[in-house]
Amino acid sequence: MLDTDMQAAMDADVFEAFIQQLRRFVRERLVPAEPEVIALDRVPAPLLAEMRDLGLFGISTPIEYGGVGMNVSQYIETIRQLSWAAPAFRSALSINIGMVSGAILAGGTQAQKAHWLPRLVEGDIAAFGLTEPDSGSDAAGLKTRATRTGEGYVLNGTKRYITNAPYADVALIMARTSAESLPKNAHVSAFLVPMASPGVSVSSPDAKMGQAGSQIADIILEDVHVPADALLGGVEGQGFRAAMQSLDKGRLSVAAAATGYAARILDSGLRYAMERKAFGEPIAQFQLIQAMLADSKAEIYAAESMLADATRRADRGERISLEASATKMFASEMCGRVADRVVQIHGGAGYLKEYEAERFFRDARIYRIYEGTTQIQQLVIAKNMIREFGRGE
Ligand SMILES: Cc1cc2nc3c(=O)[nH]c(=O)nc-3n(C[C@H](O)[C@H](O)[C@H](O)COP(=O)(O)OP(=O)(O)OC[C@H]3O[C@@H](n4cnc5c(N)ncnc54)[C@H](O)[C@@H]3O)c2cc1C
Repeated sequence: MLDTDMQAAMDADVFEAFIQQLRRFVRERLVPAEPEVIALDRVPAPLLAEMRDLGLFGISTPIEYGGVGMNVSQYIETIRQLSWAAPAFRSALSINIGMVSGAILAGGTQAQKAHWLPRLVEGDIAAFGLTEPDSGSDAAGLKTRATRTGEGYVLNGTKRYITNAPYADVALIMARTSAESLPKNAHVSAFLVPMASPGVSVSSPDAKMGQAGSQIADIILEDVHVPADALLGGVEGQGFRAAMQSLDKGRLSVAAAATGYAARILDSGLRYAMERKAFGEPIAQFQLIQAMLADSKAEIYAAESMLADATRRADRGERISLEASATKMFASEMCGRVADRVVQIHGGAGYLKEYEAERFFRDARIYRIYEGTTQIQQLVIAKNMIREFGRGE
């Protein structure tokens, strides 16, 4: 379920003007910067500053903490529009807003909200540390331990594949505070850990298949002392719940990213089909090419409709675990199909690095894996169906 600390929507006219401004920024500033982002494997600092100035790091944070106070529909639509550009731009801010600010808003103490949220809105970079070498889908199987001391806790463990780890200012780290897992998953707590804390180190960034410009690495915690007020919500055993609440938002964000990027990929496929000639005419005139274009368009429309429905339900305060998983599963698989078709539409050119289709194909692959694999979304959907059946709903 999404957090109950839901803020009111941004005024509709103001939001519409913001989206128009964002669309221009994406096409005029972000898309032209993609080659530089790929070459550096980073979003350049001046562009990050422009993204901050646009308010992008505070879209889902309430106005009282310096954010712009969008509701879920508006925040997810913003992510969809941003995702016309290379995925690295969303990655730079999505952990801040969807995962870490979301967890603090839902489960943090007043002091944690007052301390961390304005910093995250200002553009301090956050990381979300759940996955470990021996636990990914089985998130509750994590081994990182937080042992209570007189003044706070000492953390030991390794987090793996953590987005933003090489340049994050703060990480929300999920760790065991007890051997006891009753009530369910009560052994997991969440800690706000400044990355400059003694004992925190980061591995070299992993070399990835795609999504250049967004780096992942291990976070290694060796006898990291944190004060008691680093514990999210000030209560042990809330970490797993906080992580799962963040994941519902994270899943909608990935679904929006996949849907926005699929639209960009299809645009590139259509352009190529209109320009490329074979047998004396543009390949867009061939019905088998048209079938690939039409299937892609229809599937993008379906994902957009699912996003609109799921976010509307979230804004009504409904429980949307099933819808978030279904939307993430469909949109991520759909983006993969669209990327594959657009490679096919490009023919041999689709296999060359010189054309964008090859990059789109590699970039799209991760959407089916992180924030819960397609198999994990299937399990969530089926479990919800079985639960609802049991309740006679
Ligand atoms: C680019 C990138 C960025 C990432 N960013 C972050 C981040 O910021 N923070 C973070 O905490 N993690 C992050 N991750 C980790 C990511 O969330 C995990 O890789 C993902 O959840 C899968 O876990 P795993 O890799 O351990 O795979 P496993 O859990 O080992 O799964 C392997 C395979 O088994 C299947 N499987 C597992 N359990 C079941 C089951 N019960 N039933 C059926 N099939 C099953 C999976 O679907 C998959 O096909 C990132 C990963 C990548 C690649």
